Amino acid sequence: MKVLKFGGTSVGTIESLRNVKEIVESNTERTVVVVSALGGLTDRLIETAKKAERGDESYREEIVAMKTRHTDIIEALVPEEQRGDLLKDVDLLFSQLERTYTGICLLEELSCRSLDKVVSFGERLSSRIVTRIITGARLFDSLTFIKTLRRFDRHVLDNDITLQLIDSAFGDCDFQIAVVPGFISTDSNGVITNLGRGGSDYTAAILAAALNASSLEIWTDVDGFMTADPRLIPDAKVIPALSFTEAMELCNFGAKVIYPPTIYPVFHKNIPIFIKNTFNPSAPGTRIHDVRNRNGEPVDAKGVTSLAATSLLTIEAQENIRSKVLNILSRSGVSVLLATPTDESNRISYSIASSEIELARTALETEFYAEIETGEMTPVRIEEELSTVAIVADDLKNNIEISQRVSKAMNASDLDIRAWTVAAPETSISLVVKKDDRCRALQLLHNEFFS
Ligand code: ADP
Ligand code: ASP
Ligand code: MG
Repeated sequence: MKVLKFGGTSVGTIESLRNVKEIVESNTERTVVVVSALGGLTDRLIETAKKAERGDESYREEIVAMKTRHTDIIEALVPEEQRGDLLKDVDLLFSQLERTYTGICLLEELSCRSLDKVVSFGERLSSRIVTRIITGARLFDSLTFIKTLRRFDRHVLDNDITLQLIDSAFGDCDFQIAVVPGFISTDSNGVITNLGRGGSDYTAAILAAALNASSLEIWTDVDGFMTADPRLIPDAKVIPALSFTEAMELCNFGAKVIYPPTIYPVFHKNIPIFIKNTFNPSAPGTRIHDVRNRNGEPVDAKGVTSLAATSLLTIEAQENIRSKVLNILSRSGVSVLLATPTDESNRISYSIASSEIELARTALETEFYAEIETGEMTPVRIEEELSTVAIVADDLKNNIEISQRVSKAMNASDLDIRAWTVAAPETSISLVVKKDDRCRALQLLHNEFFS
C-alpha cells in the first residue's frame, strides 16, 4: 500500500485535478490519497472569517465565489449522472459554513474554536470532490480517526487513540483507493481541530506509518526537494536523495516543502518519502530514506534554508542556571532553533522564532525572578529583526571541510553574523543574520556549495 498526498496547488484547478486523477489511477497498488483544500482556499476562509468578525457583510459574496469555484470543478470533472449526491453534500457544507460565518458576524467575535471549524471546510469539500473524480475511490473521514490533544495553546496529535482509530477504520476494509481529507482532526469531545497550517503532509505520514505503507509520496508543484527555496534562490536545484535527518533539519529550518512533524512517523517505520511534481510526474523527484540505504553516496552539503522572523535571546549566568534554560523553554512550548556556545563571560544566546520570543522572555523572567533580583543572572536581552539561516548535511563532525568552507565564505563577506553554531546531532550549521541580509546570506552559501 502507498500513501499519496496532494497539496493545495495540486488540487487547485481543473487542469491540475486531471493530473491527480491520472497519477492515482495509474497506480496498481492499493492507495490512500490524502488531499489538501483547493489552493489558496484555507487563506481565503480565514480572511473571510476576519471580515465577518469585523461585522463586514461582504463575507456572503466570498461564500458565493468559493462555492462557484468548487461547483465549476465538479461540472468539469464529475460525470453528470454522479453529480447529484456530491452537489447536495457541497450545498450542505456551504450552508453550514454560511451559518458559522453568520454567527461570527453577529457576535463580532472569532474564537480559535470557530476558526478551526471554518478552515475545516476546505479539506471536507476537496476530499468529497476528489473522491468523485477518481474512479473507484472511497472517502474515509479523518474527523473520525485523527485525534488531537491540547498542549500549551496548540493541538497536538493524540497518537495512541489515533492509531487505534485508524486501525479500526481501515483494518477490515476492502478498498483499492481511499481518499482522506488532510489537516483536519477532532479532539476527545468531537470538536473540530487541525494539525496546523501545512498539516496535510502530517496526516499522510500518520496514515503511512499506521498502515505500514511501502512509501509516502508528497505530490506538490516543484520537481523535488531543492537546494534552497526556489522563490528566493532562482538557481536552486533538485536534491536527488536526502536522509531522514537531513530532511528533518531542512524542514525545521524553514524548507516549506514538507510540514516539519511529517518526517517522524515515517522515519520510525523506515518508510521512504518521495517528493514529486504533479505538473511533471515523470521527473524523478527526491527520495528521502534511511541513511543506511545510501550505497556509499558521499556525504555532502544538501541544502540551505532559512527562517525569516527570528529573535535572539541572550542571558549571562552560571552553569547551574544555564543548564535549566532549555528545559524551561521547552515546558513553555518554545522551540529553540540554536544555542550558541557559552563565552568567557558566561553569556549564551538562543535563536527563537519571533512569534515565541515573548513567551520565552516571560518563562525565563518568571522562573529566574529571584536570580535576576540578586544579580546571579542578567536580565533577559532580546534582539529582534533577525533571520536564522542554516546549511544542512549529515555527519558534519566528520566533514569539517564543510564548516571550514562556511567560515571562509562568511569571513570573505561583509555580513554581520550575530550568532553561529553547529547543531546537535551535527546535521546543520546555522547562522543568525540581520533580517535584511537573509537572502544575501542564503545566496552566498548557495553559491559556495551548489553553483
Ligand atoms: P503544497 O500546496 O503542495 O503543500 P507548499 O506550498 O506547502 O505546497 O510547498 C511547496 C512549495 O515549497 C514550493 O512551491 C516551493 O516554493 C516551496 N519551497 C520552499 N523551500 C523549498 C525547497 N527547499 N525545496 C522545494 N520547495 C521549496
Ligand atoms: N489546507 C491547509 C493549509 O493550507 C493544510 C494543507 O494544505 O496542508 O494550511
Ligand atoms: Mg504544504
